[in-house]
Amino acid sequence: MKGDKGITVKKSQDFSQWYVDAITKSEFIDYGPVSGMIALRPDCYFIWERVQAATDEMFKKIGVTNTYFPLFIPERLLKKEAEHIEHFSAEVAWVTHGGKSELEERLAVRPTSETLMYEMVAKWVKSWRDLPMRLNQWNNVVRWEFKHPTPFIRGREFLWNEGHSIYASEKETMEERDQILGIYHKVLKDYLALPGIIGRKSEQERFAGGIASYSIEHMMPDGWAIQGPAWHYDGQKFAKVFELSFLNKNEQKELAWQSTYAISTRELGVMFAVHGDDKGLIVPPKLSRIQVIVVPIYKSENSDKVVKFAKTVASRLGSLRSHVDDRDGYSPGWKFNYWELRGVPLRLEVGEKEMASGRIVACSRDTFEKVEIPVEELEERAAKLLDELHERIYKKADRHLHSMITKENDYKKMREILEKKGGMVHAPWCGENMCEDKIKEETGAKITNMPLDQSDLKGNCIYCGKKAKHMANFAKSY
Ligand SMILES: [Zn+2]
Repeated sequence: MKGDKGITVKKSQDFSQWYVDAITKSEFIDYGPVSGMIALRPDCYFIWERVQAATDEMFKKIGVTNTYFPLFIPERLLKKEAEHIEHFSAEVAWVTHGGKSELEERLAVRPTSETLMYEMVAKWVKSWRDLPMRLNQWNNVVRWEFKHPTPFIRGREFLWNEGHSIYASEKETMEERDQILGIYHKVLKDYLALPGIIGRKSEQERFAGGIASYSIEHMMPDGWAIQGPAWHYDGQKFAKVFELSFLNKNEQKELAWQSTYAISTRELGVMFAVHGDDKGLIVPPKLSRIQVIVVPIYKSENSDKVVKFAKTVASRLGSLRSHVDDRDGYSPGWKFNYWELRGVPLRLEVGEKEMASGRIVACSRDTFEKVEIPVEELEERAAKLLDELHERIYKKADRHLHSMITKENDYKKMREILEKKGGMVHAPWCGENMCEDKIKEETGAKITNMPLDQSDLKGNCIYCGKKAKHMANFAKSY
C-alpha cells in the first residue's frame, strides 16, 4: 500500500486524528470550500440513502406523510417564538441581498422549520377532522456553528428528517413519543448497529420552544457522549404563537398539540467513530454500497483465467452487492488494504488454488477471521457471515456503552470517574437547575438524559443532598 494513503495513527492513541483520517482517506467525505461544510461522496451518501429509506418506510407505515417546505424563513416569522429565536439567533445564516439589491427583510436559511411550517400549516388545519396531521420533510439545515467543526459531529450544514405532527389532544401527542423513538431505535440497531440510551432531556437541555425533549444518547470511543435522534413534545406553545387551532367536535375553537422529531447525518459520524479500527472504517452490511469485495489473486500468466473465475464467483452471490476488483497494477495486498480502509464488510479471495478446490476464502472485515466456503454455498454463507458481522459489531458497541456507564452517588467519586475514565455517571439528581449548572461548571459534564426506566430511582441528589427526583446520566458530551 502506498504509505501516504492509509491511516497514520492508532484509534486508541489519537481518536480525533484517526476519525478525520478514516472518513477522508476512505474517500467517504471531502471538505467543502466553506469551513464546516462537507461533501458526502458516493460510498457515504449511499449509507444516508439507506438510512433514509429504512426510516421513511417505517414512518409511512404509521401514517406520516412527506412534504417539502421552503428553504428561507423571513426574519419576522423566525422571531415569533421568543425562546426559539433566542436559542437559534447566534447560529442563523442570513440572506441580505438578492443580486445587487438589498432585501427589505432579512431571510434566514432554515436552522429548523417550525416557524415557517406552522405559519403555513395553521391555514391548512380547520377542524378536528383534519387531525392528526403528521408531516415530515427530508432536507438540509444550516446552523452557523462557530465552534471547531468536525465532519458530521459539528458542522454548518447537515441532512435530516424534520417530523412535525399536529394533534387534537395532549394524550395522542404523547402516544407518538414511543412510536417515533421506537423507529429510531430500530433503525439504529438494525441498520447502523448502534446502541443508545433512551431518556428525557433536562429542562435546560430540551429543544428551544418546546416543553420536553426525549433523546437517544450514544457513547463515543473517547468516552464522550453524543446526542442521537430526538423527539420533542411542544405542547401548545407554537400553536399559541402561530394561531394553529382547530374546531373541535362541539364546533369550538381549540389550540392544537404538537411534536417534532429528527434523525440526522450526525449518526453516520457516530457510526464511523464507533465501529472503525486502525485499518479504517467498518460499515454495517446493510449500509455498505459494496457488501462483498472479490479480489482475484493472479500472476500475469494466469490473469484472464482467474479474473473470469472471480466474476463467476461474484455472480454466485445473488442479491448481495458485490464487486470484482480486477484493476491491473495493484497487488492483492494493496487491494485488501484499500477495501479495508473503506469498511467493506466481507472479502473473498480467489486464486488458482480456489479454482482448483472450488472453495473460496472469505475474510470478515471486523475480525479478519478467514473461512472457506464451497462455491455452491456462497450466497447463503456470505449472507450469514454479513449478518454475524452486524451482530458482533452491535454487541461490541453495546458492551462498550454499558462499560462506560458508572452508577455513583458520591460527588467526589463522580468527579474522579469523569476525569479519569470518562463515560456517563448514572446518579440521583434533585431536578434543580442549580445542581445541574454547578456539576457542569465543576466537571464539564452535562445531563445527557434521564433514562425512561427510572425503576432504580432512590437516594439523594449527588450534588446538594436533597431528595432525588430523577436518575440522570452525566457526561462530557459533544
Ligand atoms: Zn441537587
